[in-house]
Amino acid sequence: MSNVETNLIKPFPVAFSGHTLKYEIECICKIFLPMRKFTFLYDTTQLPADAEEGAVLILEQLGEQSRFWVQVQYRGQVMEQEQQFPACSPETEKQLCEYRFSAMLFRLLEEITDLHPAWGLLTGIRPVKKVQPLLGQGLFKAEVCEKLHEKYWIAPEKLSLVYDTAMVQQPLLEKTPKHGISLYVSIPFCPTRCSYCSFVSHSIAQAQNLIPAYLEKLCEELKIWGQLVREQELLVDTVYFGGGTPTSLTAAQLEQVLTAVQENFDLSHLREYCVEAGRPDTITSEKLETLRRFGVDRISVNPQTMQDHVLETIGRKHTTAQTVEAFRMARAAGFENINMDLIAGLPDDTPEGFHDTLEQILALDPDSITVHALTLKRAANLFAEGEQQVHNPVEQMVQESMRRLPEHGYAPYYMYRQKNTIDNQENVGYARAGKESLYNILIMDESQSIFGAGCGASTKLVEPCGRITRIHNYKFPYEYIRQFDQLMQKKEQVREICERIREQEAEK
Ligand code: SF4
Repeated sequence: MSNVETNLIKPFPVAFSGHTLKYEIECICKIFLPMRKFTFLYDTTQLPADAEEGAVLILEQLGEQSRFWVQVQYRGQVMEQEQQFPACSPETEKQLCEYRFSAMLFRLLEEITDLHPAWGLLTGIRPVKKVQPLLGQGLFKAEVCEKLHEKYWIAPEKLSLVYDTAMVQQPLLEKTPKHGISLYVSIPFCPTRCSYCSFVSHSIAQAQNLIPAYLEKLCEELKIWGQLVREQELLVDTVYFGGGTPTSLTAAQLEQVLTAVQENFDLSHLREYCVEAGRPDTITSEKLETLRRFGVDRISVNPQTMQDHVLETIGRKHTTAQTVEAFRMARAAGFENINMDLIAGLPDDTPEGFHDTLEQILALDPDSITVHALTLKRAANLFAEGEQQVHNPVEQMVQESMRRLPEHGYAPYYMYRQKNTIDNQENVGYARAGKESLYNILIMDESQSIFGAGCGASTKLVEPCGRITRIHNYKFPYEYIRQFDQLMQKKEQVREICERIREQEAEK
């Protein structure tokens, strides 16, 4: 895509009549007008008579038929489309009605903006989940791609990407143990805050006084989770330390948390123990040795870019030389599964710069490489004017990674789309065979419960019937510390759901 809309001032009005199907309609509008705000009107008479732009979506029931009518007005052009189908009701056939409106609106916006989004009508964040049921029917690649293309109008290169990802995941997901859970441990501190950061992370210098109390509560929560895991006879399948930057803690502090994990959980069935070390400037051989001693077998060393001037622009206080040094230290410490994260579309980066970054990363030969596309939310903090995003070469960069990483033996193994990435791109993890992160796959597949410990962490409980319950911890360390007892009362809810899961499993 190119020529991204940059008029940030006026909200784009979207009016409905005969239905209130807002969710998918809004997603479709955002694909084409990512920088705009929208106003939704549930009565077309509220649309100002002199409105210069907007969309109208009307559903009328005409006896045996339902009439769908969509009009889009944009940049001096007005386009409309009408279709009639056998009678369908937005109350009882919500998905079908939503799909019909989405498809009509998509085609009109495509024509009026001359943008052709590669993911077509698919707006969800987990595209792989659309492939898995088709694989379950025993369909081959061509058939899967044809079906997805027919329904969502996805471009061939994205179809191939999503199919290949699903094929790598399938055998790994089949080995997911019964009664398995993953444990997520949140360390929400970073040495400094990167300018594009949209997470809740806290500068280690500012949070220094809070850290001992935070770690004490975190270890207490791990103890409570440990009791629950034992009581419910669950099996810890993967452990993931994320943040933030877990290695912004000292080696002794890391040891405190690793000990709490070791003492409270049976790790003998663990398939993966991952610590997202993250920023190269926080990695020391002492910390690496501590992680190895506790059985951590996968870490991330995240350069984001190997261009020093880009690092400076985004406020990362380290150099590419430090990244190389941290990577070599990790290898020397015995890590045989190292991931490196990159971001396509950073300010001051160019296709040539991104190409060079890939070259440098490939020369280091990490076991997996994750390529993220910069999100507009993050970009908004980085670029003074939305106008500059029009020329952002993120699509070119993402395409280069899609082409070159498989050439070097890396296969896509997990992916997700975020709302509002520049040019509607996706984030993809590539790995050498056998080096895929199971936690990343499981979190996207939503087939295993995840117990989250620490502030900002969330617990996701997956029931065999398909129901998913999410329970969120407080976002900020001071809330987590002060309201810890209150927070722990929510574990009762977890216990009840775990018992329900057991009952459903027994009935199977
Ligand atoms: S290292 Fe990651 S979490 Fe920390 S400030 Fe930078 S982007 Fe945010």
